[in-house]
Amino acid sequence: MQITVDLHSHSGASGGVGDINFDDIYKAMRLKGIDVYGTGDCLFPKWLEYLKNRFTLNNGLLSAPEYSQKYFLLQTELIFTIPYQQPEDSSLFGTIDTGKRKSWHNVVLFPSFAACEETAKLLKKYQVKNTIGRPFVKAESLEQLEKFLFELQSIDPDIEVIPAHIFTPDGAFGSNNPINNLKDLYGSFLPCINAVETGLSANPQALMMIPQLDNLSFVSFSDAHSGALNRLGREYTKLEIEEGAEKEISCKKIIQAIRNHKVKKTCEFNMAEGRYFLTGHRQKPNHTQPFYCAPDKTPSGYKCPICGKRLTIGVLDRVYHVSQAQNEKERVWGQSYGITRSWQTLVPLIEVIAASTGLASLPGKKINQIYRQAVSNFDGETALWETESEEIANRLENSQVNKKIINDIIAVREGLFKFDPPGFDGCYGKLVIGCR
Ligand SMILES: [Zn+2]
Ligand SMILES: [Zn+2]
Repeated sequence: MQITVDLHSHSGASGGVGDINFDDIYKAMRLKGIDVYGTGDCLFPKWLEYLKNRFTLNNGLLSAPEYSQKYFLLQTELIFTIPYQQPEDSSLFGTIDTGKRKSWHNVVLFPSFAACEETAKLLKKYQVKNTIGRPFVKAESLEQLEKFLFELQSIDPDIEVIPAHIFTPDGAFGSNNPINNLKDLYGSFLPCINAVETGLSANPQALMMIPQLDNLSFVSFSDAHSGALNRLGREYTKLEIEEGAEKEISCKKIIQAIRNHKVKKTCEFNMAEGRYFLTGHRQKPNHTQPFYCAPDKTPSGYKCPICGKRLTIGVLDRVYHVSQAQNEKERVWGQSYGITRSWQTLVPLIEVIAASTGLASLPGKKINQIYRQAVSNFDGETALWETESEEIANRLENSQVNKKIINDIIAVREGLFKFDPPGFDGCYGKLVIGCR
């Protein structure tokens, strides 16, 4: 049986948004076609208490009678930080942050409330403040972090640690105090890492350039901070899970699928849409022109030709760099390495509609209405993107969707789109439909 999961989100406790409303999340899951959604911030005491009161836990998944056929999985992000050991080639990156610590994000999945509560105790033992949505686990050495990770794992064997958005600046391979080998971050715990999250600015094509990832599962999630239709499920993963005798989805089956390479496919942003795709500096009041460049055009020392400061290093740059650092033989972009991967490149439907209609405000009332109309003849947006173009066109015509919007949706389905300018220095790429 195949299920569609999005297992990385945040609650209001991570800042930036108000309270998360599960009625809205449920509606968005139905429109999108997401079966299981991460709760976000499940170690945050107030949020955990709320989840316990709000849902019942069955087979390691949260459910409620009014949310038929939809499930939630206990999930948080943890930031790990250890003293930074510069790799030999780090001088290439110009000035390194003086803090000299490496901090990186991780998605952590939990099979029960008890596992969350025990982990909250573990955080206390390690004097980690549990007062924000994503706790900051500060270790004084790699050995101390290893110890923490093994203690975490001993709480429940189904707890899963997944390096998050690994190539964004605050991901494991990211440009903030860069490292070239996951061993430098996880040490002896590395064999317990089974999967990595691609993140919005990278896809399996990019991750296949890195030999160390050859045998790991690639998963893709939204990292959404709200149930808005341009956020929830904007990236997702399809898993093949065992049906077994009980025929039910369970947390254990999801974890097993991730561990045993049962990722059927990931649905990914075009890399150029992601906010950290290329190296550059965005336009600001004191930086009147933007600057961005491809990896082979990077100025020496990553010095910005406009302001002279260090550029924000993009994902593509890091991919090539880590690939070269790990390889004796250069890998070729576009070729497959490691276990077989399958993925689809998508633009969230709501963004296609926004671009097609020229209605700028996202998510706006009018755009939402067209969106509902468009997915009404499908089992959610995910099903729409998996349908053949001709059939999509037929069904959209039956739903009275405007002809231009239909053509633009088909163009995206066929890969006829690009992002110009591409994403860099925290700005998303701009969608242009109708060309490669
Ligand atoms: Zn993160
Ligand atoms: Zn600059």
